[in-house]
Amino acid sequence: MERLSDQALQTFIDLRRDIHRHPELAFQERRTAALVAAQLGAWGYEVTTGLGGTGVVGQLKRGTSSRSIGLRADMDALPIAEATGAAWASCEHGVMHACGHDGHTAMLLAAAHHLAQHGRFDGTLNLIFQPAEEGGGGALKMMEDGLFERFPCDAIFAMHNMPGFPQGQLLFRSGPTMASSDYATITLHGVGGHGAMPHKATDPLVAAASLVMALQTIVSRNVDPMQPAVVTVGAIHSGEANNVIPTSARLEISLRALDPQVRRNMEGRIKALIELQAQSYGVRAEIAWRPGYAVLVNDAQQTARALAVAQQHFPADQIAQAPMLTGSEDFAFMLERVPGCYLFIGNGADGEPGACMVHNPAYDFNDQNIAPGAAYWIALVNELLSLTHP
Ligand SMILES: [Zn+2]
Ligand SMILES: [Zn+2]
Repeated sequence: MERLSDQALQTFIDLRRDIHRHPELAFQERRTAALVAAQLGAWGYEVTTGLGGTGVVGQLKRGTSSRSIGLRADMDALPIAEATGAAWASCEHGVMHACGHDGHTAMLLAAAHHLAQHGRFDGTLNLIFQPAEEGGGGALKMMEDGLFERFPCDAIFAMHNMPGFPQGQLLFRSGPTMASSDYATITLHGVGGHGAMPHKATDPLVAAASLVMALQTIVSRNVDPMQPAVVTVGAIHSGEANNVIPTSARLEISLRALDPQVRRNMEGRIKALIELQAQSYGVRAEIAWRPGYAVLVNDAQQTARALAVAQQHFPADQIAQAPMLTGSEDFAFMLERVPGCYLFIGNGADGEPGACMVHNPAYDFNDQNIAPGAAYWIALVNELLSLTHP
C-alpha cells in the first residue's frame, strides 16, 4: 500500500488543525475553500471555485482513458461552542468542527497531493469539496450548478469518520445506509375562550396532545417491523395562561426512514392522520412539509469495488460491515445521480481517543486517520483508474 511520507503526514495534520481552528458555517466556507483551491492549484489540478456557493472542484487528468471518478469531502462546521480544550480549538466563538469535516477535507487533500506527485492512473480524477453538508444541502446546490455535467463521473465516493469504531477501521455497507430526513410544522387552529367555559371554545391544545399520541402509531402500526423508521415530535407550543383556551397549537415533527417507499408511506399516513384527527376535534390543520435529505443508497457494484480495494490494501481486521444509521447525509443526492459508495472510517472505539460522538462539544477528528484515510483514497484511484484496465 502506498503511504504518505512522515513529512507529508505532519503537513496534513497541521493543515487539519489549521482548518479546525478556523471553522466556517454552511455556505460561509470562504477561507477553507480558498485554502483548498490554492493547494490544489499549486499541485497542478485544474481548479473550479464557486460551485454551489463555496464549493470547489479540482480535476486531474492522466493518460488517454475516458474513465472518471469523483471523490467528495465536506467542508462546513456546526454552530456549537467547542469544549475540547485542544491547542487547535476553534477561534470562532460558537462555531466548531464537531463532525470532522476538517478531517475529511485534510484526508482528501493529502491524497490529492500524493496523487499529483505519484499517481499511476489513466483517466480523470474529480475532487469535490462541498459546502453545507449540515442541513444546508450543499451537494444539491453544487449539482444545480452543473457539477456532474461539467465534471462527469462514472462513480463517486465519500468517506465519513465514525466515533465508537476502532480508529482507522474502514466500514462498508451496500444498499440503504443512511436515513432520509423530513420535517413538518403542524398548526392546529381552534377557537380561543375562557378556561371555565370550554364548550364555548374549540380547544386546539387538547387536539394537539391527542395528535402527539396518535403519531406514535405510525411506526408501530403502519411501518414494516423489519424497517427502521422514526417519527419524533420535538416541540409543541400552545397557550400562555391556566384559564385561557388558546386559539392555536403548533407542533414540530421530524422523520427518518431507510427505505424510499417507507418514507413515502409515512408521509401519506402522517398527513391523513393529522387531517382526520383535526376534523375529529373540530379544529383546522395546516401542514408545512419540508422534505430534507434522501435515503442514502450505496450502489451494490461500486460498493463491492470499493470493498475489494480495501481488502487488497488493508489487513482484514481493519475492514468491517457498517451498520445502518438513522443520521442523514446529503451525499445521498449525489448517489441518486451517480452510482457510488459512502464509506466510514472508525474515529476511535469506545473508551479510546476519538470515541466522543460527532456533534458533541468535546468531539475532535482523530488525526491518526489522515494516514489510512488518504492511503485508501490513493489506492481507490490507482485501482479504479488502473493503468492496466481495459
Ligand atoms: Zn454532522
Ligand atoms: Zn458530518
